[in-house]
Amino acid sequence: MGVAELTAWLRRCTELIDEHAGELTELDAAIGDADHGANMKRGFDAVAGVLDDGTFEDVAALAKKIGMTLVSSVGGASGPLYGTFFLRFASSAQGSDPLDVHSLLSALQAGVHGIEERGKAAIGQKTMLDAWVPALDAFQRAGTSLATAVREGARAATEGREATGPMEATKGRASYLGERSTGHIDPGAASTALLWQALAETLA
Ligand code: ADP
Ligand code: MG
Ligand code: MG
Repeated sequence: MGVAELTAWLRRCTELIDEHAGELTELDAAIGDADHGANMKRGFDAVAGVLDDGTFEDVAALAKKIGMTLVSSVGGASGPLYGTFFLRFASSAQGSDPLDVHSLLSALQAGVHGIEERGKAAIGQKTMLDAWVPALDAFQRAGTSLATAVREGARAATEGREATGPMEATKGRASYLGERSTGHIDPGAASTALLWQALAETLA
């Protein structure tokens, strides 16, 4: 993954978020405050602006700019979390451009650890981590073929999204509902599955 591939991934994210913003907001209406689609759209519209305006020396520089953009443009919990993902991804990618399958795995892992630290959450709490963590595990298990790794990652992210349905939320706004949060897919897990779909479509 070089600057061109990272750009292509982010562009595809922008398209998928745009297409699915209504669904993301509906999911958030059930267990949150009905703004996840709007939050993600605002963030990724700002990302598209960055891609239109700038040229970037390497993957780390672009990822850092994307992280700062998401942190500053999204009001909800998801902005700082996705922003932290890209900031930590950038730190890990520093000095390796293009990223091979190993350095991409390291960067993705660094990003997800950032989400865990920032959100003080772990798998099983009905958050975006329930899509991120299985996706990373599947990516790692897939071995050295980048195409297989991203495809398996995307598949696992989608399964992780579905698995949030029966969970009771213990982090984020949905946790205010307690048991009543069960029976609904987590909106952040759904947006994370879209990011993985975009990654697979870009790199597989
Ligand atoms: P807000 O809840 O502030 O309105 P969004 O609706 O944009 O923000 O995002 C909600 C999503 O953020 C949730 O569906 C969940 O996936 C994720 N989320 C919330 N809190 C946390 C956390 N502490 N750790 C990880 N993810 C979280
Ligand atoms: Mg919300
Ligand atoms: Mg909100």
